[in-house]
Amino acid sequence: MTDNTVYNFGAGPAMLPHEVMQQVKDELLDWNGTGISVIEMSHRSKEFISITEEAEADLREILAIPENYKILYVPGGATMMMSAVPLNLLANGETADYLITGSWSKKAHKEAARLGNINIAADSADDNFYSIPPRENWAVSSDAAYLYYTDNETITGVEFGDIPDAGEVPLVCDMTSNFLSRPFDVSRYGIAFASAQKNFGPAGIACVIIHEDLIGRAGDKTPFLLDFKIYADNDSMFNTPPSFSWYMAGLIYKWIKRQGGVAAMDELAKQRSSRLYDFVDASEFYSNPIPERFRSRMNIPFILKDDELNATFLSEAKQNKLIELKGHRSVGGMRASIYNGMPMEGVDALISFMQHFEQQHG
Ligand SMILES: *Cc1c(COP(=O)(O)O)cnc(C)c1O
Repeated sequence: MTDNTVYNFGAGPAMLPHEVMQQVKDELLDWNGTGISVIEMSHRSKEFISITEEAEADLREILAIPENYKILYVPGGATMMMSAVPLNLLANGETADYLITGSWSKKAHKEAARLGNINIAADSADDNFYSIPPRENWAVSSDAAYLYYTDNETITGVEFGDIPDAGEVPLVCDMTSNFLSRPFDVSRYGIAFASAQKNFGPAGIACVIIHEDLIGRAGDKTPFLLDFKIYADNDSMFNTPPSFSWYMAGLIYKWIKRQGGVAAMDELAKQRSSRLYDFVDASEFYSNPIPERFRSRMNIPFILKDDELNATFLSEAKQNKLIELKGHRSVGGMRASIYNGMPMEGVDALISFMQHFEQQHG
């Protein structure tokens, strides 16, 4: 890091590891002696195919992805997956179950309910999305096509502590804001997907890990680019893929491997988040409303004692090179997003600034 380091606490696009950004800069104009940039490279060239093959092998290794799962790369991000999932998995007359635990699962439900029959199995809206309803209270269907949930709700900062038990029903998960931040048992899922711009690259691409049995079920009228089979049969290159985003995702996978894998990411995420939560909890000036067992390791909203101080907090933070701390408009206050790319020094710099601000204004 340089003297000019800015710590970006934005929820996404978000801060990426400095080391990877430096590598991208170094090879931007001449990738591996080809004399051209990845941006300019044919997605059919052997060079680009070597990039995607390495990304495939590295991701399989870091998440221990079983053979009977495919990895697809789709444009359009997690939001497009909110449409693609029901279009592929929900046939006429079937019902899918949704857990609504925040804004992103609410949005996914809204789209799915336009496209098919949906049962809301649980909804924490009455609790401001500050918690996850206990498993014994879920009203699941007897024969659901799938169960959908969002592992980490980016706006309120609520994260599942473990994988929900869906029995025999395929589990579909939006992992956009905590993908690659901890190990998970892929075999428990039908589909796990994530947009890149929080934990593993530039916007415009989503990684989809999907059980083979769920491919090839889309209805006849499903548009090409929403049909998982089109991606699976064409190595995610039915059309021109977001090649630069894909390349950068591959660099992040290698970086994660160098750091010791996703278990190491989890260790660091716990250290970063507990340092910040401990500070907020000990303070009389800052607070976080989420009960401890639901708290996210990735997105940490906090409110100041006096809302009138919000604007001053944000502008002084910015002068101290701590940016994008404004909370989501639906929650107010502040939010620090601290994904894999945020070093511990960034969290420490934020805490010292918060201490100083409290001394001045508390
Ligand atoms: C950011 C986010 C999305 C939206 O991702 P897009 O790439 O903008 O479609 C969806 N789900 C979660 C949990 C998110 O954090």
